[in-house]
Amino acid sequence: MTLKASDTAVIVVDMQNDFCHKNGRLFVPTAPPTIPAIKNLLNRARSAGALIVYTQDWHSRDDPEFAIWGEHAVAGSWGAEIVEELKPVEGDIVIKKLRYDGFYGTPLEHYLYLNNIKNVIVTGTVANICVLHTAGSAALRWINVYLPIDCTSALTEFDMKAALRQITFLYRGILTRSDMLEITR
Ligand SMILES: [Zn+2]
Repeated sequence: MTLKASDTAVIVVDMQNDFCHKNGRLFVPTAPPTIPAIKNLLNRARSAGALIVYTQDWHSRDDPEFAIWGEHAVAGSWGAEIVEELKPVEGDIVIKKLRYDGFYGTPLEHYLYLNNIKNVIVTGTVANICVLHTAGSAALRWINVYLPIDCTSALTEFDMKAALRQITFLYRGILTRSDMLEITR
C-alpha cells in the first residue's frame, strides 16, 4: 500500500534502552529483532520527506507508574535514551511522554495538526500498552492508523494478538508489513 509523505507520519514508540536493550530495566526480548525493519522504514520515510515522531517514556523518580512496573525510563537516565541504532536525526520530533498514551499531556496532537497529518504508521514497543494506546488515541482523532506488524513487539504472543485485535476491530487500523508499505513524495 502507498501513502503520501506529505500527510503521513511514522511514530516510533518507546524504542528506549530500558525496553530494547538486554541491560534495560524492562527488557522486551522480541524488541531488538524489530530494529532493522523500523530502521529501514525510517530511512525510506525520511527520504520521501515524511514526518518522523519518536515517543520517549520519561518518568520522574517518584512516578506512581513505578508501583505497577518498577522503576524504568527515568528522565535523563541511560535507560530512557532511544536505542543507538534508531537515534533521531535533525528534523525529527521527540515527544517525552508521561504515560502509555503518546498524546496524553504532550504536544503530539499539535505537531500532527501543524503538519497536516492524516495517516500515522505506528511502530515500536510494547504492542499492547504504549503502541496500542498511542494508536488508539490517534484513531480517536480520526487519524488513519497503519501498523506494520514486523515493527512492533510484545512480551507474549497473547499480548500481541490482543493489541492487534483492538487496533483493527476497535480503532479500524490497518495491519501491514513494513516491506509492503510504500511512502511516496
Ligand atoms: Zn512508563
